[in-house]
Amino acid sequence: MMKKLILLLGFALITAPAGAQPAPTDLPGLSYDVEFFEGISYDPAVPTPESLLGYRIGDQAAFPAEIERCLEAWAAASPRAALVEYARSHEDRALYYMILTSPENHSRLGGIKDGLKRLADPRGLSDAEADQLMAELPGTAWLAYSIHGDETSGSDAAMAVIYHLAAGQGEEVEGLLDDLVVLIDPMMNPDGRHRFLQQIVEHRGAHPNVDDQSLMHAGYWPWGRTNHYGFDLNRDWILGVNPETRGRIRAAAGWHPQLFVDAHEMGAQNSYLFSPARDPKNPNVPGNRKKWNGIFARDQSKAFDRYHWVYYAGEWNEGWYPGYSDSWGEYRGAVGILYEQAGFVEDGVRRLDGSIHTYREAVHHQAVSSIANLKTLQANVEGLRRDVLAERREAVSAQGPYSRRVFAILPTPNRSRQQRFLDLMELQGIEVYEAGEEFTASGIDQLGRSFRNRRVAAGSLLIPNRQPEAHLVATMLEFETRMTPEYLKREREEILKKGRGTIYDLTAWNLTMLYGLNALMLDAELPGNAKRYSSPTSNAPAGEPVGGSPVGWVIDGADDASVAAAARMMERGVGVRVARRAFELGGKSFARGSVVVVPNDNRTFEGDLEATVRSSAGELSLVAEALSTGLGDGDLPDIGGSHFVRLEPPRIALLSRGGLSVYDSGSIRFTLDHRLGIRHSDLAQESFDFSDLRRYNVIVLPDRRFGELTETSIKELKIWMQAGGTLIAIGGSAAELTGKESELSKVRQLPDVLEELDAYEQQVLREWMAARVEAPDPETVWSHTAATELDYPWSHAAELERPDKEELERRDRWQRMFMPRGAILAARTDGEHWLTFGSEGSVPVLYSSSRVFMSAADVETPVRVGVFGDAPDAEAARAGWSVVPTGQELRLRMSGLLWPEATQRLANAALVTRERQGKGQIILFAVPATFRASTPATERLLMNALVYGPGFGTGQAIKP
Ligand SMILES: [Zn+2]
Repeated sequence: MMKKLILLLGFALITAPAGAQPAPTDLPGLSYDVEFFEGISYDPAVPTPESLLGYRIGDQAAFPAEIERCLEAWAAASPRAALVEYARSHEDRALYYMILTSPENHSRLGGIKDGLKRLADPRGLSDAEADQLMAELPGTAWLAYSIHGDETSGSDAAMAVIYHLAAGQGEEVEGLLDDLVVLIDPMMNPDGRHRFLQQIVEHRGAHPNVDDQSLMHAGYWPWGRTNHYGFDLNRDWILGVNPETRGRIRAAAGWHPQLFVDAHEMGAQNSYLFSPARDPKNPNVPGNRKKWNGIFARDQSKAFDRYHWVYYAGEWNEGWYPGYSDSWGEYRGAVGILYEQAGFVEDGVRRLDGSIHTYREAVHHQAVSSIANLKTLQANVEGLRRDVLAERREAVSAQGPYSRRVFAILPTPNRSRQQRFLDLMELQGIEVYEAGEEFTASGIDQLGRSFRNRRVAAGSLLIPNRQPEAHLVATMLEFETRMTPEYLKREREEILKKGRGTIYDLTAWNLTMLYGLNALMLDAELPGNAKRYSSPTSNAPAGEPVGGSPVGWVIDGADDASVAAAARMMERGVGVRVARRAFELGGKSFARGSVVVVPNDNRTFEGDLEATVRSSAGELSLVAEALSTGLGDGDLPDIGGSHFVRLEPPRIALLSRGGLSVYDSGSIRFTLDHRLGIRHSDLAQESFDFSDLRRYNVIVLPDRRFGELTETSIKELKIWMQAGGTLIAIGGSAAELTGKESELSKVRQLPDVLEELDAYEQQVLREWMAARVEAPDPETVWSHTAATELDYPWSHAAELERPDKEELERRDRWQRMFMPRGAILAARTDGEHWLTFGSEGSVPVLYSSSRVFMSAADVETPVRVGVFGDAPDAEAARAGWSVVPTGQELRLRMSGLLWPEATQRLANAALVTRERQGKGQIILFAVPATFRASTPATERLLMNALVYGPGFGTGQAIKP
């Protein structure tokens, strides 16, 4: 139904204004009549693009529905083309790839795929068998276009390439299709593309426009880059969150492509960029790619020289992060090639020299690149294949670089989180084992501490690095990947000269850390008793029936999904409690944060309470344990007491648009819809001042990129909080509320409190002392005489002088230049705070910001940067603004590039804070908690805030 509507809209909007547009006679240079592929005739049985679209390819950007129409027509008409739907987007658009190869190859595709699979796993593969497979198998190429929906030229070029291969006559095209199976993913993000083209159509005028700043070229919030939920799909390849990605990982992996093309656009005034990328090079990318990238680049540049087009490689383009399309392809065995065409649409763009570059020419660049790359592959199928076979033989070899390394994920009661991780491993084709019994091994933990002969529990998940996808395994799971000293030197020079570094994306993405799963990197081979992990086939057990009528049901709070269960039950009208502390009932123990439903709270519930509880748990694969008693063992909490807090159903509003981050608001929206599975409202910042906030008891302000709230909004929020609202503000939005002027929060930013650092340091010391309190010496406590010596928080820093304010300011400005671009930091959690349910001890936090939040005694700070440990020889010393006491060390870098200057600013910084405001509260997150929807460790903190906020932190009224 939805699909039909989209088709109609797409068609109506592109056809109507086209007729109204006057002939662009007043702008010379607006037309581009060069044939895309000269001297080729096309099979008349295959419909031409013009006959299907009503215009030549590249005269305008085609809507997804138009592209779909062409794909279907060509697949129906050409014996060389077959169309595969591999996924559907959130907006229910189909994602396709087209298989283009000779009819002869089409008739044996199944056999080709089997052969490719055999060749990709060299375990037990003889040289003779490998030679025979290589002689029989055609080469495979995966060409993918316009993953960023507003970088449109790729998809139009994909149509040109598909038509060329499906209908082109003569030896050149036919030879290519004899030698290769070409797989074309023409439109990787149809939702983003449709959204963007709609914006363009809305801003089309009566006259041509060649100003790339115009809305007609640029679009507006949320633009077209991302998919429906604001995700950058070109970061999602190692994360596997979105349906588009999940479908194409499975589709592309099955073809073991040798060439992996990813066509993008960049700034409108730029030229054309292709691979290879500049440094830093990720060492897990197989070494021979450098050679191959060079070979492909040489041929591609020759193809461009023919037309006198200009281009470049390297410069800003760097592939350190492994979640880009072309990078992911490289770890899987392909040569990855990025295209970046100058981006603009429709009439084209005016350059500094006065010339106009047309959209059709932009499309031509992408098409010529694609055919050039295919020809290079055609000439090198066997050479490439031999190199990849050799690297895979090395990957599985007991003497290879990935031998004697196993990643162990220790058993956790957080079953749904572990399942999410296992699902990602399965998606990526990574082999996982399970430890049959306890064993000992040496290795390193996630805080960088080496150990010898540590016990690894039975039931731990074990992932040997030595397996066919070793390169991908290493980049996803090794605790850190270090840049070369030469690169670090250059990066530091860059920071000193220009005040900022050159890292393009994250420097750390370790998956066990982002997931908050406790893991070890072992110097070992897989133990003999390890068996392949297989997912439990049955659903979770339903919990044991209790004789008679139960006094209630419990869902264990260690599992992240328990928050979703609580939220959904409340939406279904069930009264729910959550336990502040761990407890034992009926001989079973439950973690703090466990969700409890008792009939006594649900006397007005209409319906079958037990069935509702069980189905809410069951749909999340959770167990609801029936209780026969409400009396806790010994001193542990009893159900009727104050430790079981009655929740208030959240009524959530999420602020959107304005200058708020498309990524963060999208990721939070995704979390609400798909992780929690509850309703919420998106509110536009532009009309926020006119909204009736009384409808909501939770308001979320996502990370902000630019702009600010109006004074009226801030005033209204304060009144709303005083009356009981829970305000959650993140990143830039949180920073906006930390100034003295807003009066909403006592949290401050480091540069604003350089004269009051003692108060902040004392709070850190006080928390540190509280976490280490031992049973006081009875002689001292019960002494009858006045004490003459006391332990003060500040006495731990008594010997240390602080520089004057001017010097502190100077240092802070200096250190700010070195702040991290996506490093993973260790953070300690307050084990008694409701915001940290499910996050015991410490939590890894992905940090990408130059801000540092400061909180003193009047602010609850359940999460702070750094984990204290014993260091018997260490003297008290300041790390930045706060002291590390005698005999202690503070560990904070888990993975990624974190300069020493940044460790000084970030040590003990506040990450999550909570303050009372009248009957309500304000909760601040220093950085986004649901980054790319792939940080379950911090996502849990946000889910606690969203669902438990109204019950825990606020005073709710009884409705008389
Ligand atoms: Zn792009």
